[in-house]
Amino acid sequence: MGRLAIINCCQYNLVKFIMTNNQEGKTDRKPNIWKLTRCVFRAFDILRFPCIFEFFWHILTKVSPLNQGEIEAASEMFGPNPSRFNTVRIAQGRLLNIVFLFNRKRPFVTFHTINYSRPRDNSRKHLADIIHELTHVYQFELVGTIYLWEALRAQWKWKGKAYDYGTWQELIIKRNQGWHFRDYCREQQAKMAEVYYRDILSADTPISDNERQAYEPFIHELRHGDL
Ligand SMILES: [Zn+2]
Repeated sequence: MGRLAIINCCQYNLVKFIMTNNQEGKTDRKPNIWKLTRCVFRAFDILRFPCIFEFFWHILTKVSPLNQGEIEAASEMFGPNPSRFNTVRIAQGRLLNIVFLFNRKRPFVTFHTINYSRPRDNSRKHLADIIHELTHVYQFELVGTIYLWEALRAQWKWKGKAYDYGTWQELIIKRNQGWHFRDYCREQQAKMAEVYYRDILSADTPISDNERQAYEPFIHELRHGDL
């Protein structure tokens, strides 16, 4: 096959992929925005945009690895895997001081970097915050840069409710209706991990506790990367 034919074939398949299929299975002229978005973020991953971004971002901010208390909390939550936590950096200060003026000092994750404005005091609140942000890092590792778009889209769409997955009693109802961890939006997933760590793991709640039982099937899926 000549080079032109290969290019034409690739073009045809790409256009076909981003077009919406109508009910008869025929390709519609309207592009499927979701598929297009996925293509753009996949291109970021292939071009190693996160590595390039973090190279410059770490120069513009002050970064440090997770401390011992944070690694222990992460191991308790996600399972022991020291080499995985070695890649995570916490960025504070410098350019971030300006960024935090505009986002009410809310922490956020850029790939393997947790951008953090609060003191790292190893309190239960701080470690639960770190678990929330590490869940976003884990999302990035599993689905690529599109996690960032999905998390931001949830915040724009539902504002404060983007984090609200309901009570533990509602978790039981949702589970009985066939819900999985992956059915929750990126912010709800991170909030679920945060609350599980804060109220159950670090509180040494017994395994037989009803609230713990409600969380367990969802957290099991998180730990196995089903998100
Ligand atoms: Zn979040």
